[in-house]
Amino acid sequence: MGGPLLTPLRPVQQFLFRCTSECRTSGDLRMQPTAMSNPRLSERIALILMLFLLLLLVPPQPGSAQAPQPDGAGVRTGVLPGSWLLGGPKCVEVPQFQIHQYNEDLYILRESGCTNFEKPFLYLLFGKDKALLLDTGAGKTEVIRYVRTVIDDWLRRNKRESVPLVVAHTHAHRDHTSGDQQLEALPGTTLVKPDVKAVQEFFGISNWPDQIVQYDLGARALDVIPIPGHEKSSIAIYDRQTAILFTGDTLYPGRLYVDDAAAFIGSIKRLVEFTRGKIVAHVLGAHIENTRTPYLDYRIGTVYQPEEHALELNRGHLLELDEALRQMDGKVVRMAMRDFTVWPK
Ligand SMILES: [Zn+2]
Ligand SMILES: [Zn+2]
Repeated sequence: MGGPLLTPLRPVQQFLFRCTSECRTSGDLRMQPTAMSNPRLSERIALILMLFLLLLLVPPQPGSAQAPQPDGAGVRTGVLPGSWLLGGPKCVEVPQFQIHQYNEDLYILRESGCTNFEKPFLYLLFGKDKALLLDTGAGKTEVIRYVRTVIDDWLRRNKRESVPLVVAHTHAHRDHTSGDQQLEALPGTTLVKPDVKAVQEFFGISNWPDQIVQYDLGARALDVIPIPGHEKSSIAIYDRQTAILFTGDTLYPGRLYVDDAAAFIGSIKRLVEFTRGKIVAHVLGAHIENTRTPYLDYRIGTVYQPEEHALELNRGHLLELDEALRQMDGKVVRMAMRDFTVWPK
C-alpha cells in the first residue's frame, strides 16, 4: 500500500453501479453508473467510504506493517561491527567481554573465546524506567564488572542516579546463566529465574507457549514470545524501537540444537506468524558458530574464529528454517543450510 491518499473524494454516485437490462439478459457483467435514488443509503455509503479513506490516511506504524518506502521504516538505527574482537590465537590481554554500543540505549556484550569457547552474546537494553539484561554469560567471569561499566556510562550520559535492572534469559542453558549469582547481588536488580514458571509469572504469560505478551521498559515496548524447543523456557524478544528480534539459541548462525522437535517446529511457526507484516531490522541470536564460507561451521569447542559469520540474520533466515522444518514433516533431521544447521540432539 502507498502513502496517504491525497486525491479528492469524488461524488458518491460515481462509485455506484447498476446492471442494465441488456446486461441482465445477456449475462454480461458490464455495469453502468447511476445516481443513487435512496438518500439514506447514499449517506451511509459515503460514511463508509470516508472511514476507509481515513484509515488510509493513518501513516504506517513501525512494527505494524512492512515499510512502504525504503526510508529506514521509522525504526531506531544502530551499528553492528564488521567483525568481533577475536579471542586468540594468543589469549593474552583479551578482555573477558567486548562491549559494543549498537546505539545509545542498546549494548551488546560478546564473551571472549579465551574466557569460554561458547563466546555467547549478551544484550543490555535501556528504557526510560528500567534496563533489561538478556543472559549473563558462560563459565567463570567478572560479568558484573562489564555490566556495571555499561550502566554507569548510561547513567552518566543521561544524568541519572540509578536505573532498575531486570535480568532475564533467552533460555536456561548454563552458557547463558553463569553470571546470575553475581548480578542478583547487584542493588536494584530483579533476576527472573531461568525456568518456565518464573518466566511465566514475571512476564504474565498465562497460556504458555501460545501467548505473546508485552513488556515495557518505559517508552520502549518489547514483545515476549515463548519459543520452547531448543530448551523448555526459551523466549524470543522483539524490540519495537529497533525492530530487532532476539532469538537466543533458537536461531543464530550456527548449530540450532533441537531438543523437542514438536515444540521447536511450533515455535518457529509462532515466530514466522508474529513477524508477518512487521519490520525486522535484525535477528540476533546468542552465538556464532558458522564461518563466512557458506555451509561451513567451526567445529564444536573452537576458540579462535578469524573467519566467523556475521552475527546478524534476518527474517529470510526464519522463513528458510520454517520451510526446512516443514519439509522434514515432523521428523527433524540434521540439515545444513547456507548460514546455519538444524541439529537434533
Ligand atoms: Zn542453549
Ligand atoms: Zn548457548
